[in-house]
Amino acid sequence: MTQNEIAGLVDRLARPLWAEIDLDAVAANVRALRAQAGRAELVAMVKANAYGHGAVAVGRAALEAGASRLGVVSVDEALQLRAAGVSAPILVVGYSAPAQAAAIVRERLTATVNSFELGQAIDAEALRQGTIAEVHIKVDTGLNRFGLEGEEAIALAESLRNAAGLHVEGLFTHLATADEADKAFVFQQFEAFRAVAERVDWIPLRHTSNTAGLLDTPALNQGMVRVGIGIYGLYPSPAVDRAQSLSPVMALKARLIRVHTAAPGDTVSYGRHWQAAGGERLGLVPCGYGDGYPRTLSGKGRVLVGDVTAPVLGTIAMDHLVIDITSSQAGEGDPIQILGGPPGSGVSADELGTLCETINYEMTTRISARVPRIYMRAGKPVAIQGLNDPFPVDLGSASF
Ligand SMILES: *Cc1c(COP(=O)(O)O)cnc(C)c1O
Repeated sequence: MTQNEIAGLVDRLARPLWAEIDLDAVAANVRALRAQAGRAELVAMVKANAYGHGAVAVGRAALEAGASRLGVVSVDEALQLRAAGVSAPILVVGYSAPAQAAAIVRERLTATVNSFELGQAIDAEALRQGTIAEVHIKVDTGLNRFGLEGEEAIALAESLRNAAGLHVEGLFTHLATADEADKAFVFQQFEAFRAVAERVDWIPLRHTSNTAGLLDTPALNQGMVRVGIGIYGLYPSPAVDRAQSLSPVMALKARLIRVHTAAPGDTVSYGRHWQAAGGERLGLVPCGYGDGYPRTLSGKGRVLVGDVTAPVLGTIAMDHLVIDITSSQAGEGDPIQILGGPPGSGVSADELGTLCETINYEMTTRISARVPRIYMRAGKPVAIQGLNDPFPVDLGSASF
């Protein structure tokens, strides 16, 4: 399957801009992370559309490769997975409202119960629906974000302990500095968590670690780990251990839709911030901030045209950016790579993230629904999901 044949698939669906999602890399990353997890269960965090990679396809691939559950932040994200036919346990780690209790119970979601009202609503719904709902409780041990203070968490757990419609299955916390070299606060949070967990030792499952915790402090694994960024083949930060080798999953690509030569004094894009000496070859890329490519990379970004790094010229628009391809032979219709690839490629999520003063997480998560996702196995597209497809559409091998 050549890049041109893949682009041909996209042409039927959208502008020639697409994200290739390597499901074999997802599987390999899950296996590596599972090895690191030891006996702990692995929750594949697929919130925010699997950090931009596509929650349904990535979730399925992660489960096949050994994740035992999927994790999301909200009930609606979980319902999308259920609607696609995912039957594995789904942990909702963020806020849910009592008004969502019916959906939580009906769809067998494991909610994080953050209030007695929510616990009561789930309990009542489960009794009405004739079932028992699993719930988890989150303890705030220093992130000061979502969760309950230790005493509140214990009081809530005890108040729900004997509820007939629910079972408090898990107790968890989230680490603030797991991706930093200095682990002092990690251990401080863990100690605070352990002190709470000991007082509700009837709760069977405890979990603390994200990807950074799993890679750097596996002694904290306990019964389960919640892994996001590592599944996507990226490391949480430069400080985190890289002994487990992970492969980037996303490659954002496009075809050049126009190539022309600049005359002396020509300017490019809004605001005329780049001016030609004359003779430069300009390549037009159908990708802009509306697709999730940061506008802050105006005049700073770069793309890969074959082996050649081509700088972004002038202002990045909502739908387009212009590159200088003077030093490449590329012509109209040729494929280029905008984001992804291994660290050091020049366009990796790490490098581009650094260029626009953010983290790799944000670079992939930003990629918008307008960009078709092409799911790859063994270098071949196996499914595609465009803006108007609620779920990935399998490409039977007959398509080729
Ligand atoms: C997103 C998230 C994770 C995963 O974090 P990574 O750094 O991507 O591994 C784990 N736990 C919670 C509560 C999260 O929200």
